[in-house]
Amino acid sequence: MDKLTLKDIDLKNKKVLVRVDFNVPLNEDLSISDDTRIKASLDTINYLLKNNCSIILMSHLGRPKGKKDKNLSLKNAAKRLSILLKHEVKFADDAIGKDTENFKKNLKPKEILLLENLRFHPEEEKPKDDNKFAEELAKGCDIYVNDAFGSSHRKHSSIFQITNFFKNRAIEGFLLEKEVDFLYKAIQDPKRPFYAIIGGKKISTKIGVLNSLSEIVDAIFIGGAMSSTFFKAMGIDVASSLVEDDFLDEAKKVLEKFKIKKVPIYLPIDVLLAKDIKEETETKIVESDKTFLKNYQAVDIGPKTISDWEKKLKLAKTIFWNGPLGIFEIDKFSLGTNKIAKIISDIDAVKIVGGGDSVAAINKLHLEKKFTHLSTGGGASLEFIEFKSLPGVEALSDQ
Ligand code: ADP
Ligand code: MG
Repeated sequence: MDKLTLKDIDLKNKKVLVRVDFNVPLNEDLSISDDTRIKASLDTINYLLKNNCSIILMSHLGRPKGKKDKNLSLKNAAKRLSILLKHEVKFADDAIGKDTENFKKNLKPKEILLLENLRFHPEEEKPKDDNKFAEELAKGCDIYVNDAFGSSHRKHSSIFQITNFFKNRAIEGFLLEKEVDFLYKAIQDPKRPFYAIIGGKKISTKIGVLNSLSEIVDAIFIGGAMSSTFFKAMGIDVASSLVEDDFLDEAKKVLEKFKIKKVPIYLPIDVLLAKDIKEETETKIVESDKTFLKNYQAVDIGPKTISDWEKKLKLAKTIFWNGPLGIFEIDKFSLGTNKIAKIISDIDAVKIVGGGDSVAAINKLHLEKKFTHLSTGGGASLEFIEFKSLPGVEALSDQ
């Protein structure tokens, strides 16, 4: 746990490479719909400015699959950061290469440079044995700071391999430190009952963690597209609902595990079905143990589920929530997420919400002050609960 932090090291006039998490939700016109994650990086950046550092920031955005994709450029993030900081933020069109190298070399104290989306290079997510990509990122920098809690569960180049090039100089940023400290304390000895609510759509990356949650929580509530995968695994015809078929066996195993452990899994009693993913479409509420309507898909939890979950959740002393319970970006499908958010906000308990989209949903309702902790990482906070640490944190220099 005791890793070097910003306060442990002489930063004066240094060139500092910072891995931030600017993986922000975007609107259809590619503008930033929620800048929580950018705001969350300001403490670290301001501290580095105060120490006269030259600051090089790097991040990923979305899933460009190792190729350049102009829809996933970080250019808008540079603009937003500049407004929030009231300080110029320069932008490099590529995370590596000769031009970027020169850009870094010529960066003066108190100047800030944001590099283009790391995931435009396949080596970010699939590091090669030679670590050349990480080495290029590291080139010309004195100190590495990890402030990307939301990405620290992944052994990616900018999180993990990069630390090889900063012996005794790979440190925790303020956001990472705060997130890790908070979660560690919250789950070390949680007030019980401890309930988890899991929704969203990243089934492949989250379903494995559910197994270990059975050891930790007193009950789990599953909504969102995650619940459709479970319904299908239970043999229910979920029609056009979003399901990751490769994980049906895994879902069965999770159900079995919770049964053995005698920890209840609450799936929605009823669901809202829609013909299309848009505001003006036909919808229908059905009991979820019945076959879903042909050509319809589950887009939200239903009203019976909301009142049932309300009764149960009110008993909780600790709540961890990751993943919206429906396609909340569309008003018509946002009732479940919004009502459960409102219900939880009024409960007297330790209330933790993790995940880019989940936190965006809370912000949209202006309920952020009524939660104990909003974590910038969804998958990361889930894995932290599972392992009590993360690979990206472990890789940093010890105190
Ligand atoms: P987080 O970012 O909080 O970790 P995820 O990225 O896993 O959460 O999932 C968020 C996304 O899941 C949202 O964009 C939401 O629209 C989508 N979603 C929620 N429920 C459903 C559903 N039933 N079908 C399809 N998508 C869903
Ligand atoms: Mg998300």
